[in-house]
Amino acid sequence: MAEVFLEHVYKVYEGKVEAVRDFCLDIKDREFMVFVGPSGCGKSTTLRMIAGLEEITKGEVRIGDRVVNDVAPKDRDIAMVFQNYALYPHMTVYDNMAFGLKLRKYSREEINNRVMEAAKILGLEEYLNRRPKQLSGGQRQRVAVGRAIVRKPKAFLFDEPLSNLDAKMRVQMRTEISKLHQQLETTMIYVTHDQTEAMTMGDRICVMKDGVIQQVAAPIELYDKPCNKFVAGFIGTPPMNFFEGNLANKDGKLIFVSPGFECPVPDAWKEKMEPFCNKAVTFGIRPEDIGNEAAERNPEMPKVKAKVEVIEPMGSETYVYLTCATTSFIARIDPHRKLSVGQDIEFALLMPNAHFFDGATEKAII
Ligand code: ADP
Repeated sequence: MAEVFLEHVYKVYEGKVEAVRDFCLDIKDREFMVFVGPSGCGKSTTLRMIAGLEEITKGEVRIGDRVVNDVAPKDRDIAMVFQNYALYPHMTVYDNMAFGLKLRKYSREEINNRVMEAAKILGLEEYLNRRPKQLSGGQRQRVAVGRAIVRKPKAFLFDEPLSNLDAKMRVQMRTEISKLHQQLETTMIYVTHDQTEAMTMGDRICVMKDGVIQQVAAPIELYDKPCNKFVAGFIGTPPMNFFEGNLANKDGKLIFVSPGFECPVPDAWKEKMEPFCNKAVTFGIRPEDIGNEAAERNPEMPKVKAKVEVIEPMGSETYVYLTCATTSFIARIDPHRKLSVGQDIEFALLMPNAHFFDGATEKAII
């Protein structure tokens, strides 16, 4: 068990690729921290610096109270689970899990106890004599996790461990890793590009873009209060809709104006929005806040007129793809509502859940 601290960490690869810039983060003891962001944003590089597989260009990494910048990976007391499992193909499941302990000269009895305990936790007891190629993808992933568990590390690092699994298996392994975290009560740092994995697994999520932390927060806080347009668009599926426009002052009332869509700014937001008068702003609204019951029933909610382009029934809800002048957007609505492609429609917007972003900096205003 350990805290992991990163202080002003930079990684510059040869050829001057700045993969990670001024990364500052305190990961708490027993926390499940997820690094999420699009491909190439520096997630793996950061994880690999914590593991010691990548040199730190500048800054400091501490595990517990020890600075580990110059400590070899094997001496950092952490275990890493990789995307490709990295199992030894010629060894049995048992030997794959036991291998690291044998190298560290643990007694035969201790090795057996630890392997059997891990096999029990992971439901691998009946596969101990098989070789990796005789296992399914999910089972191989479990062996890779088992190999980490037997070492009883201070922290587990996961680098996109579920990307090679099919969709159903991914969901299953996701809950297994979450359960494992509760059971082992160990710090876990988990890298993924998949925002659903991040949202469902993380105690906190660190959203990255271009090597820079954008926001670190609990899942629901990221969803409710994204700090900028990037985080707003990255967290949530389908993603938040954006309308680009300007803020106007009409007879003392602030109005958001975009092609084909206008809406008054609620009085409660006036003070924060006023400095953006006559400037470019982005209006953000999530698909679930368009045309829902709460919005449609409230006559004070603004409305958007749009044309229905595509209808996707999902069973529990329907995704409706719409256009309003030059803006395309998505609504998630009640599946029993009758709609047809090409239809002109008006949807109410649940304004208290809307967001505004500075058109220049993309930072959240509301
Ligand atoms: P992610 O895990 O978010 O997909 P990475 O950490 O793998 O991103 O990569 C971050 C950036 O660093 C990318 O631009 C990538 O091309 C670059 N990069 C990664 N590894 C190397 C390397 N060994 N040499 C040079 N550039 C690298």
